[in-house]
Amino acid sequence: MEYFNIAETWDRQTIEANQLIRLRGTLERAALTPFYAKRLRESGISPQNLNSLEDFRKLPFTTKDDLRGQYPYGLATVPHSEFVRMHCSSGTTGTPVAVCYTQLDLNTWADLMARCLHMVGVRKSDVFQNMSGYGLFTGGLGIHFGAERLGCMTIPAGAGNSRRQIKLMMDFGTTAVHILPSYALYLGSELESYGIDPKSTSLRVAMVGAEPYTEETRRRIEQTFNIRVYNSYGLSEMNGPGVGFECPEQNGMHVWEDAYILEIINPETGEEVPDGEIGEMVLTTLCRQGMPILRYRTRDLTRIIPGECACGRKHRRIDRILGRSDDMLIVKGVNIYPQQVERILMKFPEIDANYLITLERTNNRDNMKVQAEIRDESFIEDFHALKNIEEKITRALREELLITPKVSLVPKNVLPKTEGKAKRVIDLR
Ligand code: ADP
Ligand code: ZN
Repeated sequence: MEYFNIAETWDRQTIEANQLIRLRGTLERAALTPFYAKRLRESGISPQNLNSLEDFRKLPFTTKDDLRGQYPYGLATVPHSEFVRMHCSSGTTGTPVAVCYTQLDLNTWADLMARCLHMVGVRKSDVFQNMSGYGLFTGGLGIHFGAERLGCMTIPAGAGNSRRQIKLMMDFGTTAVHILPSYALYLGSELESYGIDPKSTSLRVAMVGAEPYTEETRRRIEQTFNIRVYNSYGLSEMNGPGVGFECPEQNGMHVWEDAYILEIINPETGEEVPDGEIGEMVLTTLCRQGMPILRYRTRDLTRIIPGECACGRKHRRIDRILGRSDDMLIVKGVNIYPQQVERILMKFPEIDANYLITLERTNNRDNMKVQAEIRDESFIEDFHALKNIEEKITRALREELLITPKVSLVPKNVLPKTEGKAKRVIDLR
């Protein structure tokens, strides 16, 4: 295996032995904050008496509300002058959470990110265009420093502005990008509208993440550009991008267990679930100096993929993120994730990338409306063809969701578009 960091070659025993050592150090640091000092005391855990990773499970979870309560510096373990940067979560849900980094933290993060990019074959010779938003969002600078660390010529393009993205891609011969799934498909159709075949550019690989998407969407991006697409996962609370990343096998994301402790719990009981079962991911930082976070409930739902990866890395793999526990919609008493709708829609080649779910209540009954943009404009005129696909989609959705949504197909660029993470659901109930 060609590796960037030796930790990629560690066996399970080495990974776990290192976790224990790093966890002791992390607890020692965390105990410098009143918040964690109290929690450690109350649960009877100290860095000295921690003998196994099992012991650690006695510590209560840290929630997003806990982090909000400690805003801005409550979890700092160093004098403020030691911090060299801060980021905020993009606030997709509620008030933001701030994370502060020391220089050491930034170095560790850049290394982790570089390791991810290296794993899927990005090298110094690549021209890397970072289409993640720069600013408070961790995607911009986080990925940027990883790509620079590898020695790539890095273009800090940021999110949106397709005309400029395309010009940069063409002028500088971009070979690798980091991009949102919703934006990747949009960029494909933008290229076409400029008369450029998306397959004809020098792009060869895309790292896609920051929001949930389906396997069907991955394949569609791959086919549109004739490239390879790898899933990229991270969250501000755990630095940002670089927490989990797909390897060339494209079968789940390796979570870097030398840097994070990974647990999957039943969100109701808090108990660990067996491998293979879906639950909420809980993460602990092992290499964070300035602001360690212990047993953080990410609210992201996924499962551990049982067994070993063919690539040889022993860091466990998580499956595609199903969504957040707070993304779940309850419609007519049925639990639904927006990803289920996307999975069905993307099976229809007639459908473009953008869709919107609207929930309403009329006469005390839930109604679910699914609008999707159609790819080929000429369809819109062919009433019968249009109705025919609408019916097929309705049937497929009913089979998947067990309720019957009202499906309507609309022309391209009709549904609202965002520069950042896509907003897929409007709940008017
Ligand atoms: P916010 O929580 O405000 O969106 P972040 O920028 O920290 O702020 O976003 C992290 C979240 O983005 C993750 O918790 C997860 O829900 C989502 N996410 C990141 N990468 C992926 C991915 N590859 N697949 C699915 N969801 C992802
Ligand atoms: Zn692998």
